[in-house]
Amino acid sequence: MNYCFIANFQVFTNNTLFLLATCKENNNFHVIKFFRIQNVIILKFIALPKTREMIPTLYKSALHPREVKALLKLKIKGRKYAIPKESLAALVLKLDDEAFCCAALSKVSRSFAVVIQQLPENLKNAVGVFYLVLRALDTIEDDMKFPKEEKLKLLRNFHKKSYDENFTLKNVGDQEDYRVLLEHYDKVIRVFKSLEADYRDVIVDISEKMGNGMAYFTEKEVVSLDDYNLYCHYVAGLVGIGLSDLFSASGLENPELKNRHDLSNSMGLFLQKTNIIRDYHEDIFSDRSFWPKEIWGKYAGELSYFTQKPHDLKSLACLNEMVMNSLEHLPDVVDYLRLIKNKSIFRFAAIPQVMAIATLAAVYNNPKVFTSVVKVRKGLAARLILYDLSLEDTLTYFKKYSRVFLRKSPAGTAEHRQLLQWSKVLNKKIN
Ligand code: MG
Repeated sequence: MNYCFIANFQVFTNNTLFLLATCKENNNFHVIKFFRIQNVIILKFIALPKTREMIPTLYKSALHPREVKALLKLKIKGRKYAIPKESLAALVLKLDDEAFCCAALSKVSRSFAVVIQQLPENLKNAVGVFYLVLRALDTIEDDMKFPKEEKLKLLRNFHKKSYDENFTLKNVGDQEDYRVLLEHYDKVIRVFKSLEADYRDVIVDISEKMGNGMAYFTEKEVVSLDDYNLYCHYVAGLVGIGLSDLFSASGLENPELKNRHDLSNSMGLFLQKTNIIRDYHEDIFSDRSFWPKEIWGKYAGELSYFTQKPHDLKSLACLNEMVMNSLEHLPDVVDYLRLIKNKSIFRFAAIPQVMAIATLAAVYNNPKVFTSVVKVRKGLAARLILYDLSLEDTLTYFKKYSRVFLRKSPAGTAEHRQLLQWSKVLNKKIN
């Protein structure tokens, strides 16, 4: 039987949206599922060819009406957040420096660009440029074809190019958009130079530290837990620290943030470690991995063992230990988020953290991590992006997901006991 899933959305009454999931068999459509979605604003959604690609995404959120609503709203009304269709190489010819940076940001950061756009006006450009500068550094770091000596020199001296309007790089980067960004990096530099001095100082300081850290790890593998924490500090903890410094420099935020680099570091580590766990499968085939041997070495002789035996209890125990290691940063995340005063800065800081814990809950004890990339429903991201997210909402998400870990962990095991201990600490922070 050749099933092909499609879905239709029809408005049946004045205040109810019905979602019909249908399947196609021999060119006949059959209704196989029928969800009644209450309390949604009526949206006339017609499955045009352009919107058809969304159908699997919508289906995954079918039981979460607010997510369906957010996905449709983002698609239909959210054009201002849309990623430009033209290639960055074509856009470069018609856009001025600032517009190019905006386009580049939405191309290279995708959903992150939307939350940056929602930041207060005088912070938006600084955070956008900060992101592009760090993206450029990461592009150099990730380019495996780049001659090593040259790469080391460039990473260590990258911050010195911050004011050099002649600085561009050709043919660096493993993706087209990244290559175009570096080829026209002079545009980023000009926008950078238009920022206030306090912002510029933060960006130069962090790119110096990050470039040197990346250079250090170009020559050194991540083996011990200390290496793992240090690597994550360089590539992500420093992003958290830089953002806190930018928030403080804007005058809009609690000045205390600047003094809590420990918490800012944890904000970055929680996100980075989550990505490293999720990207196991992608990374193992590109011949690099950031999983520390100090953890995986307890369960296997080779890191690639887990791809061969994804269901093995040892594989899952290793995965769960990696997740537990990441979860240890969450109490600090709670402390950090409590310090934030500005509503849109709060959303900017909190959304990725909620996405990260949702990702960890999806990967926990899940053998699919070893054979594919496990992703969180896009509907959750759409909902977080479009609706208010308060501290209370965020803490509710954290509590909800902490229960998921406990439910998924094998009762009576050491890992279950560790999770119980962790959730006690977390709940104490939250309540
Ligand atoms: Mg990298």
